[in-house]
Amino acid sequence: MSRPGAIPGLHHVTAISGPPQGNLDFWVGTLGQRLVKRTVNFDEPGTYHLYYGNAAAAPGSIMTFFPFVDAGPGRAGAGMASAVAYAVADLDAWMGDLAEAAVDFDGPFERFGDRAIALKDPDGLRVELIEGGARDGGCHSVTLWLDETEATARVLEAMGYVREGGDTPATGGTGGSETRLRYRSSAPERGSAVDLMTSDARSIGRPGAGTIHHVAFRARSAEEQQGWRAHLSEIGLEVTPVIDRQYFDAIYFRTPGGVLFEIATDPPGFAVDEDPDRLGQALKLPAQHEAQRARIERVLPEIRVPA
Ligand code: ZN
Repeated sequence: MSRPGAIPGLHHVTAISGPPQGNLDFWVGTLGQRLVKRTVNFDEPGTYHLYYGNAAAAPGSIMTFFPFVDAGPGRAGAGMASAVAYAVADLDAWMGDLAEAAVDFDGPFERFGDRAIALKDPDGLRVELIEGGARDGGCHSVTLWLDETEATARVLEAMGYVREGGDTPATGGTGGSETRLRYRSSAPERGSAVDLMTSDARSIGRPGAGTIHHVAFRARSAEEQQGWRAHLSEIGLEVTPVIDRQYFDAIYFRTPGGVLFEIATDPPGFAVDEDPDRLGQALKLPAQHEAQRARIERVLPEIRVPA
C-alpha cells in the first residue's frame, strides 16, 4: 500500500501535570490559550482531562493535560518529547508581558533563523515561543529528545515529513551540548515541524508531572487514518486499533526512539457535545461515565478558569 499523502502537522500534545488550578492559571492566564474542553480521563474518571487550544479549538493548537493531584515530579530525558513550541507574531510584546507578570523565561535565542524564548509551566514542562509561522495561537513544533535520531527520522519520513535542516546551538535546555534536526511536513499546516534533538547531558527521563505523554498528529478523516494505520503497520510499527476519544478517533504507536505517537482525526471535533461559544465551561462526560456524574463531580477538585 502506498503512503496516504502526508501528515499535515500536529493534532495535539498530551502531558501530565500536578493539581489542575496551577495548570489552568498558566496555560490560560499566562499563555492566553482557551480552555476548550473540561472532561475526565476516560480510563480514570476521578481525574480531569483539560484541553487548551486557540480561539477556534483547531487541530494543531491543542495541548491536553491529565492533572493528577498527587503526580510525582517527572523529568524529560532521551526517549521523550521534551518541549512544545507555539508560533507567536510579536516576541518582543510577549517578553514585555511576561516580564511585567514576573514570569521567568530564557532567551531570546535563535533557532533555525527565528527568535525564540523558553519558559516553564508550574510543573516544569518546557514551553517555547517562536516568532513566525502560523500566528493564530497554534503550535509551531515539538522537540523529541532522542539517544539517536535515525530510527525516528525514518518514521517521520514514512509520515510524509522531510528533513529541513540541522543546527547545533544548545537551545533545548538540556544543559549539555545539543544537536537538532528539523523535519517538516511536505504538506505543511499548523504545527508542521518536529525537531529531533540529541544531547550529551545526563538524560534519564522520568514520566510524571511536567512531562509530555504523547504527541498526536493529524488525519483529516477516518479513511485517511485507516490508510496511515495500514502504512505504518506495513513498515513494522505496532499500531493500536482505533480508539474512540469522543472528540477524535485515535491510533497509537511507540516509535523506535521511545516516543509515543498518536494519529487523531479532525472529526468530530470539540463542538460535538457543546456550543462552540461555550467550550470548556461545563464538565462534559462521555456516555459511559454520565451515569456516574454526581460521584465524579464530588471527587474532582474545584477549578476556576482565569479571566
Ligand atoms: Zn492524544
